[in-house]
Amino acid sequence: MSEYKPSVDEAQPLDTAAALAEVLDRVAARTFRDDLIDAGLLIPTGVDGLYGRSEVFENVVEAINRLVTQRGADQGAEVMRFPPAMNRADFEDSEYLKSFPNLAGTVHSFCGGEREHHRLLKCLEDGEDWMDNQKPTRVVLTPAACYPCYPVVAKRGPLPPEGRTIDVFSYCFRHEPSLDPARMQMFRMREYVRMGTPDQIVQFRAMWIERGKALIETLGLPHSIELANDPFFGRGGKIVADSQRAQELKFELLIPIESEEKPTACLSFNYHMDHFGEIWKFYTADGAVAHTGCVGFGMERTTLALFGNHGLDVENWPASVREALWGKQ
Ligand SMILES: [Zn+2]
Repeated sequence: MSEYKPSVDEAQPLDTAAALAEVLDRVAARTFRDDLIDAGLLIPTGVDGLYGRSEVFENVVEAINRLVTQRGADQGAEVMRFPPAMNRADFEDSEYLKSFPNLAGTVHSFCGGEREHHRLLKCLEDGEDWMDNQKPTRVVLTPAACYPCYPVVAKRGPLPPEGRTIDVFSYCFRHEPSLDPARMQMFRMREYVRMGTPDQIVQFRAMWIERGKALIETLGLPHSIELANDPFFGRGGKIVADSQRAQELKFELLIPIESEEKPTACLSFNYHMDHFGEIWKFYTADGAVAHTGCVGFGMERTTLALFGNHGLDVENWPASVREALWGKQ
């Protein structure tokens, strides 16, 4: 939906109740996205789901990120920060393309010589397709913040008896252009990733479901925890999704943002079983294939949930929420 602009007709004096009702209807159809853009919180780029963020928006993101750090301070987590891209070979190994080929983002670059460059410039000049000489690089965009850390940790050899916990934070890419501001193509995810025995993962996840709920409660946001599944691609995808649900591998913390009936997943609690352990051949201290799990905090979605529930003016947010985010002022 584009930004609301009065049409020529509306600029005319309103002489009937029907005309007034129509205008009011159209104003009511303004979306949360329109409001966020008008308030300057999101900066549109012309591509659906790709936005700039304002200082106010970033202040909220940073405050949520600090809260997550505080809640996870006892985890002894190793901090790893990767750019929002990963090694294409690792990405291929991860089997992401089996499940979500439609969401993946690959990085291509010009790999031609002088002649190809001339052709490229000619194509641009003639408004023709210029992508012919763009070839895949060894880099793909990160689909989830935890992906780059598994092969790196696997290379270190067997896990210590207590397992490992890694703290990651990254922009992620998913190719799903949408007008829903909570469904961005590039967004940030903060995660704690746990690697160890099945017991260690299950216990970690149960603990983070409680911690996640407590964190969202301090932000004064309504929420619920639901069993969930990933949007696996294709006809076979439904079977995989059903099995993921049956095994209770994924839970989400949902917060109503634009709609009460369709709340948005803002946090997720995932158990991958031995999927990554098998792929990257990493083992626990006693030689079993390592299991992994992660808790992910959707930074933009949680931020949008705050704006959606407490209003677009952070100065008017409840004092308890402001204090949770920025301390006593
Ligand atoms: Zn993850």
